[in-house]
Amino acid sequence: MEKSSEISKTSLVGITRVELSAALRRLGVPDKQLRMRVNQIWGWLYAHGVREIDQMTNIARDLRESLAAHFSLARLELADAQHSDDGTRKYLFRLDDGQLVETVYIPELDRGTLCISSQVGCTLTCRFCHTGTQKLVRNLTAAEITGQMVAARDDLQDWGGGPQSNSGHRKVTNVVMMGMGEPLYNSDHVADALNVMSDGDGLSLSKRRITLSTSGVAPEIPPMGEKTGVMLAISLHAVADELRDELVPLNKKYPIAQLLDACRNWPGLSNAKRITFEYVMLKNVNDSDADARALVKLLAGIPAKINLIPFNPWPGAPYQCSDEERMQAFADIVNRAGYASPVRRPRGRDIMAACGQLKSASVKQSAAEKKKAELAQRILGR
Ligand code: SAH
Ligand code: SF4
Repeated sequence: MEKSSEISKTSLVGITRVELSAALRRLGVPDKQLRMRVNQIWGWLYAHGVREIDQMTNIARDLRESLAAHFSLARLELADAQHSDDGTRKYLFRLDDGQLVETVYIPELDRGTLCISSQVGCTLTCRFCHTGTQKLVRNLTAAEITGQMVAARDDLQDWGGGPQSNSGHRKVTNVVMMGMGEPLYNSDHVADALNVMSDGDGLSLSKRRITLSTSGVAPEIPPMGEKTGVMLAISLHAVADELRDELVPLNKKYPIAQLLDACRNWPGLSNAKRITFEYVMLKNVNDSDADARALVKLLAGIPAKINLIPFNPWPGAPYQCSDEERMQAFADIVNRAGYASPVRRPRGRDIMAACGQLKSASVKQSAAEKKKAELAQRILGR
């Protein structure tokens, strides 16, 4: 097969059950066989991760041939992979239109978390976030979102054993939608992709091990819970609207009270299904004892976890991370209120893979940004 014809074929990787069924119908698979065929192909795609349509051995040869004539099993193109000293891996994928997007794998003792992107860049402009400075933005398709997980399983050799072998020895056990982009500005594609990832006959991730993080698109929050049943994280970062307006400008549209109301309407909210509130520690900005006390008060009555994230600096960033002692004092107040909130240890800092540092290298720095970065480097360098 010539390479060019392979490229022009649509890949089945990332396809949803509904799309797969429609595709098979177009190939002439009779209605009464559709369900069975979808199930078979689904298992090959997502439980076994096969690379060749010919490896789908329980599919009749003529159907395999017509599938291969129209479709490929092409993966996202891996443009670059960086490995951190602590085992974190950052992948840079080149999409069909040339855009670049990042995915991060973070191994820990009891789990392996894949941090997946939902958009190229982000239309929002949180002041502490590197992705928010990226100019080019588009939504990822559902296939591009799921494709990040498939490609990571390829790289980590994390296939085999079928869908039942998810606990125990899987390398990717958890997914967080905390890469580039605001997932609730791309709700339909994200919901489709999360439902493919949690399908028990395929990639088979438990819904409790998938977390969607949002900067607070309030009206989209409960519907996303209805559609997917996954876990929710809220990027709160401030306890009063005045400061949150500045840090997370979307707050002007959906202020804290409205955001927390949406959280109270999260389907299934209970102590067993708590919402995680993320709080980035910014030196002398949001890190006082009074802030900690106000945070606890604000969340009273909502089954919640609190995640304190040390600010991860990037060139030209307008903030610094709070000092160790300050973060500890803040954490102590939160802990005394009954939350187990260790300060999260940043991972992959040496390869700029930590939270909020993602920003694909293809985008050129603006002149102003460059100047700021140079200045920051000069200051840090002395
Ligand atoms: N857009 C979504 C998800 C992606 S950001 C959201 O904002 O929730 C994932 C998390 O990283 C968010 O909590 C975000 O606030 C945080 N983050 C962004 N920049 C950061 C930085 N420089 N240091 C630490 N955390 C950061
Ligand atoms: Fe976008 Fe999230 Fe970064 Fe804000 S923190 S700019 S919403 S990616």
